[in-house]
Amino acid sequence: MKSYKVAIIGGGAAGMAAAVTCSKKFGGKNIIILEKQQKIGRKLLATGNGRCNISNLNMDITHYHGDQRIAQSVLSLFGTKNLKRFFSGLGLLLRDDPEGRMYPYSNQAITVLECIKNNLEKSGAEIRYEFLPKAIRSDSKGFTIQSDSDTVYADSVIFSCGSKASSSLGSDESGIKLLKKMGIRSAPLFPALSPVETSERYKYLKGVRSKGIVSVITDGKEIISKCGEIQFSDKGLSGICVFECSRPVNEYLCFGTVGGKKTNRLDISLDIFPELKNDALCKYLRSCRGYFADLPVSMILSGAINKKLSEALICFSGIRKSRCGDLNENDIIHLADCAKNFIFTPKKAEQFGSAQVSAGGIGSDEIDPDSLMSKKIKNLYVCGEMLNVDGDCGGYNLHFAFGSGILAANNIK
Ligand SMILES: Cc1cc2nc3c(=O)[nH]c(=O)nc-3n(C[C@H](O)[C@H](O)[C@H](O)COP(=O)(O)OP(=O)(O)OC[C@H]3O[C@@H](n4cnc5c(N)ncnc54)[C@H](O)[C@@H]3O)c2cc1C
Repeated sequence: MKSYKVAIIGGGAAGMAAAVTCSKKFGGKNIIILEKQQKIGRKLLATGNGRCNISNLNMDITHYHGDQRIAQSVLSLFGTKNLKRFFSGLGLLLRDDPEGRMYPYSNQAITVLECIKNNLEKSGAEIRYEFLPKAIRSDSKGFTIQSDSDTVYADSVIFSCGSKASSSLGSDESGIKLLKKMGIRSAPLFPALSPVETSERYKYLKGVRSKGIVSVITDGKEIISKCGEIQFSDKGLSGICVFECSRPVNEYLCFGTVGGKKTNRLDISLDIFPELKNDALCKYLRSCRGYFADLPVSMILSGAINKKLSEALICFSGIRKSRCGDLNENDIIHLADCAKNFIFTPKKAEQFGSAQVSAGGIGSDEIDPDSLMSKKIKNLYVCGEMLNVDGDCGGYNLHFAFGSGILAANNIK
């Protein structure tokens, strides 16, 4: 029966980075990846719309949420320079865009995966596919990992099973459940970086896009706002700026809290005219009242925004006039207010399927942030999205996955 120095459970970004690092340290023959799917790196291939936004030049702790001690520990070991060095050692060339987002030079996620796989193959590291651990035992000799048909022994184990987001790509809660059976607790999971389903459904807005500012308002106070392209769907709101605001929304919908504090009300406000102050917008609306006097009132903003969005704003404003020329001064002021504060109410929905990451997971109460080793079970490590750390859009989640995999591997003796 073959025993390995390190068994890595889950062959995603974190597990593969851990495997490359362990192979260098202990020789590939002593390393095994246990992957429940038929392929490794499936989610990696889907990242950045297939382009793989691998990291970001603007790397700092403010882009991470959840357990700050773990995020800080990974960032201190692994900045963007380290990431570049790690990947250049695998023959991967990177480039960055004007906003600092880093991509493979090929603009293809497959290049990243192939460079990693080539390296693992060359090192002789073993990958066992369709291996779903059912039970893991630890004793003084190490770990016994059992699937339905197979048993693997290892001195150390790295858990890198990902989390519940986009589980059609393979990762789910099974890793966290395995750890629970071993007595390692996890903070409850909730989706982050997801679209937001809303109670107001302007079905005709499906497919409409508009530049704007998305703000989240809790109990009357703005807690986050992001500017970008808002995408409307038949269910609610999407687009990167919506994804970036979705974390507190999902926390509120799942637990009635934001940042752990009880919250009574949460709304999303859209400013559809971020470049215009209210006065300038009123001035523009007055001129449109003249230009479009005989047209239906729903057309009043059609010279500035998509006419379906103009119609939705009239609907939201409650203005019941039939022609643009019928609008009075109060209507103009009210409509300008509505366009700069177009309110949507998030609706409870299962968003893990469309989320890019899960928030929650294993934290520094269970894991030593400096080594990522369990405080309860010696030589058991956790990395990647299983940890209670989630990042903003822009390459921060992959950076953390790779960095935490390397940190765990570096600490194995
Ligand atoms: C559509 C999409 C686009 C994204 N785009 C970006 C982006 O451009 N930039 C960015 O930074 N982040 C992006 N992310 C987030 C990023 O992909 C994840 O944060 C990252 O992949 C997490 O890496 P991981 O290794 O922890 O988990 P995963 O990549 O999910 O890998 C986990 C692996 O473990 C395996 N596994 C799970 N359970 C078990 C088990 N019990 N036994 C054995 N194997 C198991 C899974 O099959 C999988 O192979 C995106 C996510 C999605 C869904």
